Amino acid sequence: MSEAGQSWGRFPRVSQRLAPLRDRAKPLPACEGALLPYGNGRSYGDSCLNPGGTLLQTRGLDRFIAFDADSGVLRCEAGVTLAEIIDLALPQGWFLPVTPGTRHVTVGGAIANDVHGKNHHGWGSFGHHLRCFELLRSDGARRLCAPGDAARGDAWFAATVGGLGLTGVVTWAELQLRRVAGPWMQAESIRFGGLDEFFAVSAESAQTHEYTVAWIDCLARGAALGRGHFIRAEHCVAQAADASAASSRPASPPPRLAMPLVPPVSLVNRLSLRPFNWFYYHRQRAPRRHDRVGYQSYFYPLDGIGEWNRMYGPRGFLQHQCVLPPAQAREGVAAMLAQISRSGRGSFLAVLKEFGARPSLGMLSFPREGTTLALDFPNDGAQTFALLERLDAIVAEAGGAVYPAKDARMSAALFRASYPRWREFQDYIDPRFSSGFWRRAMEQV
Ligand SMILES: Cc1cc2nc3c(=O)[nH]c(=O)nc-3n(C[C@H](O)[C@H](O)[C@H](O)COP(=O)(O)OP(=O)(O)OC[C@H]3O[C@@H](n4cnc5c(N)ncnc54)[C@H](O)[C@@H]3O)c2cc1C
Repeated sequence: MSEAGQSWGRFPRVSQRLAPLRDRAKPLPACEGALLPYGNGRSYGDSCLNPGGTLLQTRGLDRFIAFDADSGVLRCEAGVTLAEIIDLALPQGWFLPVTPGTRHVTVGGAIANDVHGKNHHGWGSFGHHLRCFELLRSDGARRLCAPGDAARGDAWFAATVGGLGLTGVVTWAELQLRRVAGPWMQAESIRFGGLDEFFAVSAESAQTHEYTVAWIDCLARGAALGRGHFIRAEHCVAQAADASAASSRPASPPPRLAMPLVPPVSLVNRLSLRPFNWFYYHRQRAPRRHDRVGYQSYFYPLDGIGEWNRMYGPRGFLQHQCVLPPAQAREGVAAMLAQISRSGRGSFLAVLKEFGARPSLGMLSFPREGTTLALDFPNDGAQTFALLERLDAIVAEAGGAVYPAKDARMSAALFRASYPRWREFQDYIDPRFSSGFWRRAMEQV
C-alpha cells in the first residue's frame, strides 16, 4: 500500500480512519462516518481518499479462489494485485488482457476505475474482460454482477465498473486472461517530429500492433512541438538462437532502486525538466529501433523505481489525463502542448495514445474513442493550478473528459458535462459510501 491511506500524487494530504478487511465472507465493519474501499493507493488524486471518513483497506482480501489453466478463467479476491496474477498465470502461458502502467494495482481498483492499457484500440478496457464479481453493500446485501445479464445484475455491473468505489466493496472477481507465448515483447521505437507524424504512425500501427503508445517532449517549441517517440509492440516468443532454458526468460529486473526519503523540494523542476526532455528525445539517434524486451520493462518501466512519487517533494504532484474526441484531438492536443510549453512547467512524463472505438461498459468509465494525453506536474501551488485550469478549458471546449483516477481538482461542472450518466449512477451509490472526489464533483463540500 502507498503511505498510510494516501494517494499516489501525495496530494491532497487528508486525515481519515483505516479499517482493514481480511475475510470476504464477513459483513463490513461497523464504522462511523462515510466509508470508501481502498486498494493499493495507485490513484493519484482524491478518488481513493475519504477525508474525515474511513477507508476500507482491501489488500487483506488477497486469496486466489480458482484458476483454470486450460481456459484462462481466474477467480480471485479483489485485493489481489495484477503483479500477483502475473506471477501465477504467466508461467502457465496466460497474461492480463488489459494492464495499466503499473502492476501494483488491485483487481478491485482496476474495476473501480475501469483501467485501460496500451492495447485499448484492440482490447478495450479492464471491464471488457470481467465475467462477474460480487458486490458487498453496507447493509450486508451481496449482489452477483455480470455483464449483459439482467438476472445477474448487469445494471449493477455497469455502475460498479468505473464506479469509483461508490457502489459497495467488490469482494471477488472472475476474469478471462489471454494466452501469450511467454514473457517477451518485440518492441519498435519510432522517432517522430511532430503531431501530424504521431497521428499518421498511430493510425498505421493500430492496424499492425497490439500495443501502441508515445512519449512526447512537452517542452519543445515551434516546429518541434509534439515531437517524441512512438513505441509499438507485440507479445513474442524467445528467438530460436537464444531459446535455451537460461535465456528464455527475461533477465531479472535490475536491483530495485527506491527513493529513500522525500526531498525538501521537488527534484522535478524547471531546471531538471528541459535537459531531461532534450536528452530523452535525442537518446535514440536512428529514426527506428527494434528491441526484444521483457514484459516488465515494456509495461511497467516506473515500477523499477520504488516510491518514485517521493521525488516531487513534500507538496506532491498532480497528474492531468484527458481524452479528446477524434475530430478535436489534433487541434486540442496542440493547444494543450502550446499552453504547457509557454508556461515552462513541462511534464517529466507526457504520454499520448489513441483509444479505440469500443464503448466502455461502465456508466462512468473514462476510456472512450479519441486521443488521451497524460501529464505530471509538480505541485507549485497557484501557478500549477492555473495551468491545469487552462488545460481543462481546452478539454471542455473539445467535448473531452478528464480521468477521475488521476484528478484532484477538476470542477464539478466539467465532471458532470463529461460523464453525463452521473445522474443515473447516483441510484446505485451505497448510502454509506463517499469519497473526497465525489463530494467535490457533487459540490457537497
Ligand atoms: C505509475 C502508474 C501508472 C498508471 N497507469 C495507468 C494506466 O495506464 N491506465 C489506467 O487506467 N490507470 C493507470 N494508473 C492508475 C491506476 O491504474 C488506477 O488508479 C487504479 O485504479 C489504482 O488501483 P488501486 O488498487 O491502487 O486502487 P486505489 O487507488 O486504492 O483505489 C482506486 C479506486 O478503486 C476503489 N476500490 C479499490 N478497491 C475496491 C474494491 N475492492 N471494491 C470497490 N472499489 C474499490 C477505490 O474506492 C477508488 O475509488 C496508473 C497509476 C500509476 C501509479
